[in-house]
Amino acid sequence: MRLLVSLVTASCAATALGAQTNAERMANDRYTRSHDYDLIHQRIELSNFDWDSTSFDGNVATTLVARRAGVDSVILDAGAKLVVKSATLRTARHGDTLVVFLPRPADVGDTVRFTIIYHGVVENGHGLTYINSEGRPHRPRQIWSQGEDDNNHYWFPTYDFPNDKMTWDVVATVPRGFTAVSNGRLVSDVVARDGSRTFAWRQEKPSATYLVSLIVAPLVKVHDTWRTIPVDYYVYREDSALARPLFHVTPDMIDVYSRLTGVAYPWAKYAQTTVADFFGGMENVSATTLVDWLPGLRDYQDRPWYQWILIPHELSHQWFGDYVTTENWANMWLNEGFAEFMPGEYWREKLGTHPAQDYLLDEYNQFMQIDDEHRMPLAALGSNNIYPKGALVLQMLKQYLGDRPFWASVHRYLVDHALDNATTDDLRQAVLDATGQNLDWFWDQWMYQAGYPDFTVTTKYDSTAATLTLVVQQTQQDSSKADSTGLRYTTPAAFRMPVTVRVGTGAGDVVARAELSRRQDTIVVRDVKRAPTMVIFDDGNAILKRLTFDQPTAWLAVQLDRDPDLWNRHWVIAQLGQRPNDPLAAGALAKAATSSDYFLTRVAAVQALAQFPAVAALPPLQAALKDTSAQVRAAVVEALGTVGGAQAATLARQAWTNDSSAAVRAAAVVAIAQTDSAGRRPFLLQALLTPSYRDEIQNSAYRAIARSGDTTMVDSVNAHAGDHHFAPHVLAALASRGSTRALDLLAKLLNDDRTFVRGWALEAFQFTLRHELAQPALQAASAGLKFADTKKAVDELLQEWAKAGGK
Ligand SMILES: [Zn+2]
Repeated sequence: MRLLVSLVTASCAATALGAQTNAERMANDRYTRSHDYDLIHQRIELSNFDWDSTSFDGNVATTLVARRAGVDSVILDAGAKLVVKSATLRTARHGDTLVVFLPRPADVGDTVRFTIIYHGVVENGHGLTYINSEGRPHRPRQIWSQGEDDNNHYWFPTYDFPNDKMTWDVVATVPRGFTAVSNGRLVSDVVARDGSRTFAWRQEKPSATYLVSLIVAPLVKVHDTWRTIPVDYYVYREDSALARPLFHVTPDMIDVYSRLTGVAYPWAKYAQTTVADFFGGMENVSATTLVDWLPGLRDYQDRPWYQWILIPHELSHQWFGDYVTTENWANMWLNEGFAEFMPGEYWREKLGTHPAQDYLLDEYNQFMQIDDEHRMPLAALGSNNIYPKGALVLQMLKQYLGDRPFWASVHRYLVDHALDNATTDDLRQAVLDATGQNLDWFWDQWMYQAGYPDFTVTTKYDSTAATLTLVVQQTQQDSSKADSTGLRYTTPAAFRMPVTVRVGTGAGDVVARAELSRRQDTIVVRDVKRAPTMVIFDDGNAILKRLTFDQPTAWLAVQLDRDPDLWNRHWVIAQLGQRPNDPLAAGALAKAATSSDYFLTRVAAVQALAQFPAVAALPPLQAALKDTSAQVRAAVVEALGTVGGAQAATLARQAWTNDSSAAVRAAAVVAIAQTDSAGRRPFLLQALLTPSYRDEIQNSAYRAIARSGDTTMVDSVNAHAGDHHFAPHVLAALASRGSTRALDLLAKLLNDDRTFVRGWALEAFQFTLRHELAQPALQAASAGLKFADTKKAVDELLQEWAKAGGK
């Protein structure tokens, strides 16, 4: 009976929240593509890869089943540069589609088979990326594919949309010394007399065509297992020793995800393969592609993003995205939201609550920045916040439901849509089926509508009545404008959520729970017999929100000391940071900076202290410089740069010389550039020559030079033009500061013999140089350009600018 009551209440609330939502949901369904066949299997055979012409030969055998009576032709997506040489059925081409004519009309359920033999050329980077080493270190010749969203049809004819799953074979013949990695099980690996090698991979369980993957590169395999399933790491030979320290967490992550979801890892193997110039990672089914930035052994003290988020993110897609796949791209948050959420759950399992909250706090900061720029709902085509907001909303859902009902719902979702597609509403249905809770209202406000509650809270204590009254206002505005199609994203005027208030007093805490549902709610906390010493609104941080709540410093200091929740602590630190002349605030921050139980709280307190007078800030900063956490020491060094003065400069120098963390030394580069104007130049030149993981130290030095505007360093920066992507950008920055020599040198780089240097230089013109300088400089340079590719790119950019200027 109770169940029914809550269902009724929930659906009433959903109606009250507005009809726009239903329209929104229908709009998302509209983005699913119709098709009159069901792709069953493709055998994709590739050979004769040629790096100079970015081409190959292809042979694709397709099996499909007609889903409509009288189908007389099949339309496949196939890039216009795939030239059909022969086919077992008649074909015709229209742009990026290939029509295959059937000998007689097929009936519903009829199986159709045909083979297409073609010569494929790719526009480099579309579907396949061919990389030539050009003599650069750590960058062997290679090819990698990238399908998502709809680029796989540029290298094989297929149905390039996520709502039709198939099985497939990828058979690749590659030159001597190369390995081909693809999805599924390795069926055969045959070496020919000429040394070329043919790898046959078979993906035996259906998945979406955008997840078909191929990597061709000189790789070594480092082998692991989870249960009996191979877990392999394919890296360049020179990275062999770095692979296991980085990837060894994978079997344990597979184990934790299998346990949390109740769905054992579903694929024949798991490969992680590193490639050059990759944007991060891609969850190709059972064969994830990752960027080739393997951390060195001492980089682990700086908690490399690669292990903290990249590996667990792509791995979780093997369930969320590959096993259950969004039906269309307007529900892509189902893939990305879960993939962004799961790493935090892995770290919660391994390291505890604070690391999980730490992970989510970063998502929160990203979300707020994105939402401030442009507000969109989670479930919308092209939504800009599916990663962080997806993770935060799932976390909120978990807190709302409780752990076991939440994971039961996730299990239901995965089982009900196994090897198939899903929409946002399917997840709501899974929660309903698993828990009896219809969270239509939750989906309405968090998935289909945009924004978050912006709370303003005020309190009043009545000692006679022993009550603390909180007035809670929701001040968010529904101000989004309609786009050209008339589609407008709404923000709820009032979010409905339960909230917990914790009031600290000399006689212990008083905790009250209330339901928020209106623009203004009043919460009366009873039995507050002594005056409050702190008031926590949303104890446990159960609501994704912004909070304005003006409080006495003493309350904030008590909360910072006592509240275990990291978001709440960071909120408190932000409040205290705005009181630089309040000794009580300085004392609370100094205590947190030096003795808080989690490093991220110490980091935040250190950052806040940077805005305090040196006399208050320096003693705790100096003490915090001895922290065992590299992140805290890096924050201290950065703060020293802001505080300034001789003592800060000396401490920053010591950190540069003695610290083993690249993050700390990179922070020291900035601090020394800020605090030591006399020693800056030789120091920065030295920093430019100091290698570190992902060039953290060099990047810091380049930024410091650009910021300093010191044009005496132009030639030194130019000397590194071929070593570092930032160098041409710094030349552009110095040119913008008036250095004609920097501008001349930058223009010369457009004629550099190395393709990548010309590319970097052009990017610097486009993105870093002020436009009123970039345009005439490129016009002047255009006539003298030696290389056709650069000339073409420059002329295209100039035309684009002319068009934009002419409007
Ligand atoms: Zn992802």
